[in-house]
Amino acid sequence: MSPPVDPAVALAPRLPSPLQRVHDERLARRGVELWLKRDDLVHPAVPGNKWRKLAPNLKAALDQGHARLLTFGGAYSNHIRAVAAAGAAVGLGTVGVVRGDELARAERNWSLARAEGYGMELAFWDRARFRETLRGLAEPETVRGLEERWGRCYVLPEGGTNVAAARGATEIVSELVADLPDLGPGDVVCCAVGTGGTLAGIAAALPEGARALGVAVVKGARYLDGEVASLHERGWGRTFANWRIDHDHHGGGYGRVPAELAAFAEDFQALHGLAVERRYVAKMLRCVYDLAGGERLPPGSRVTAVITGPADPVQ
Ligand SMILES: *Cc1c(COP(=O)(O)O)cnc(C)c1O
Repeated sequence: MSPPVDPAVALAPRLPSPLQRVHDERLARRGVELWLKRDDLVHPAVPGNKWRKLAPNLKAALDQGHARLLTFGGAYSNHIRAVAAAGAAVGLGTVGVVRGDELARAERNWSLARAEGYGMELAFWDRARFRETLRGLAEPETVRGLEERWGRCYVLPEGGTNVAAARGATEIVSELVADLPDLGPGDVVCCAVGTGGTLAGIAAALPEGARALGVAVVKGARYLDGEVASLHERGWGRTFANWRIDHDHHGGGYGRVPAELAAFAEDFQALHGLAVERRYVAKMLRCVYDLAGGERLPPGSRVTAVITGPADPVQ
């Protein structure tokens, strides 16, 4: 048997991701400094936090001799596309279970078409079955059900978040500390929160005094606080008090992009040359601008905004 492929060799991510300073009068006036951690540039097909979170899981899947990855996501899931591309690169088959059985008969959107283009097998499940299965992933019975249909597979939950993924996200902070060795009190590292894996890793890795601020992109998603705490408990055997989640900048819910938010993103692009991804990154940046100079980001704060992914080809 040939030795397992090294995902970091097969995919050749661009690491460390660049760190860039942003000069913006609106923030300077309120005493806040902004830096962008450009994780969107890590890999063209497995960008941003998707590389960070998948890397340890790809390695585990290969080390355990798996031939296939199986995961879950919505119709435009960045995670589904990233798994499809990563699997193809390291020689693992991929299955994507997609929320919504009505999509089976519809024309493939650009995101699912891309996933299929990488060789991913798609299955479309109604919402109840999808939800039930995700809820039961910790039960051997649920995994057995999946394996009856697809054979032995390495199962990744929706969004790819598990303890290994959160550990992968700690590398964002390791790189940041190399660029800003004085990272500490006054520093706030911000990221968008879909499932909380990225935030959990960042918070766990921050040096003393630095804080993490996650911006929930899902409406009313208080369970995310519990998710992050649970990842810390399972992965680090402790809690961390250096993070919080903002629940006021979801823009109306997952996938919703109000006109005002789109305008903010366009303005940011015009001023700073970053094509702003709308479903996650725009909401996180909007939150930073809203909170700058206030109690949460007081004057003197140095904010590092983690750009967790590139703009969609179709906004
Ligand atoms: C998946 C994704 C996130 C969410 O990350 P979590 O670890 O699930 O919280 C944030 N930003 C972008 C661009 C993403 O694709």
